[in-house]
Amino acid sequence: MACSMSIDDSLGRPLRDLRISVTDRCNFRCTYCMPREKFGPDHTYLAKQEILSYEEMTRVVQSLLPLGLKKVRITGGEPLLRKDIAVFVTMLRDLDAHLDIALTTNGILLGKNAKRLYESGLNRVTVSIDAVEEQVFQKITDSRNSPRDVFAGIHAAQESGLMVKVNCVVKNGVNEHQLVPIVEAFSSKGIAVRFIEYMDVGTTNDWNLESVVSGEDMRKTLTKHSGQMKRNPAVHPSDVARMWSLPNGTEVGFIESVSQPFCGDCSRARLSAHGSLYTCLFSEKGTDLRSIVRFGANEEEISKVIQNIWTKRDDRYSELRGENEADRQPVEMSFIGG
Ligand code: SAM
Ligand code: SF4
Ligand code: SF4
Repeated sequence: MACSMSIDDSLGRPLRDLRISVTDRCNFRCTYCMPREKFGPDHTYLAKQEILSYEEMTRVVQSLLPLGLKKVRITGGEPLLRKDIAVFVTMLRDLDAHLDIALTTNGILLGKNAKRLYESGLNRVTVSIDAVEEQVFQKITDSRNSPRDVFAGIHAAQESGLMVKVNCVVKNGVNEHQLVPIVEAFSSKGIAVRFIEYMDVGTTNDWNLESVVSGEDMRKTLTKHSGQMKRNPAVHPSDVARMWSLPNGTEVGFIESVSQPFCGDCSRARLSAHGSLYTCLFSEKGTDLRSIVRFGANEEEISKVIQNIWTKRDDRYSELRGENEADRQPVEMSFIGG
């Protein structure tokens, strides 16, 4: 393992976690993320040569290990659409046997990929599913797929030895009636569910506060059905989900980035598919690392550039939400990596 120090940003937060968007494409058109009106046949995706190669992304990760990086999350767009994604996992695993490597996916292609991903050194998958009722699922994802396809992917992942978590974004008037069925569907399989407040990422999803269901309201719904919930102590300060338990012991997580922001512990950087580094999910601008990498910079040089960016970081968008809103043009989630 690489010997590592730690670098802190201007608010004392270390850089521990890198999310890499390996593609800006997706096989779903979730209405809150890539609405078809904005991501239709005319949308221009990144060309192959604009996207970082696995070698280039691996070099960025390698340059971050001496700065204290502990975790990489592969995401997108839909990461399983990228060819030979397991090869990338192997390259990351070869860098560091202790690196925590996770992947976020909509699960449709997981059945085909799970075994290889596990064998390549992937530790964990987070599968996003916002409804177990087929009609609701198809409406949200704007697809003809069935939740059964996602269940099959999850089953394959568990069989292969991967740890599995489930993420569900809750949107008012769309899927709040799916809270109880989702908990019931997964608790019996020993899979932790985390409910996410709908966020104002990007510029295409017409977000408004009325569409947000707060974690507190989600807990009220669950409590009404299953009994009083209890808050569990946090295990790691940088965990984005706050864990609660139902009376029967089932643990449920809540990612309350709108109602209870957690910027104070945010140790995440993001690498977009076209190789820019973003220090916040709500950043309007990133720093182009692709040119530096393609210009032939070695790991030490890339490391210095990132160190320079990180030590100046003062992002805490979710805590400041509502102030200075006008004319913001934050980058899309499918591009920057959720
Ligand atoms: N396609 C993969 C998936 O859906 O899991 C990976 C990329 S997706 C952008 C990552 C996560 O971001 C998903 O769990 C998705 O539900 C979540 N997400 C996307 N847009 C969001 C929004 N506006 N608010 C909250 N979560 C969002
Ligand atoms: Fe695709 Fe994931 Fe965005 Fe849905 S949330 S459109 S699956 S990238
Ligand atoms: Fe981190 Fe930015 Fe989200 Fe705050 S708003 S938790 S700084 S990504």
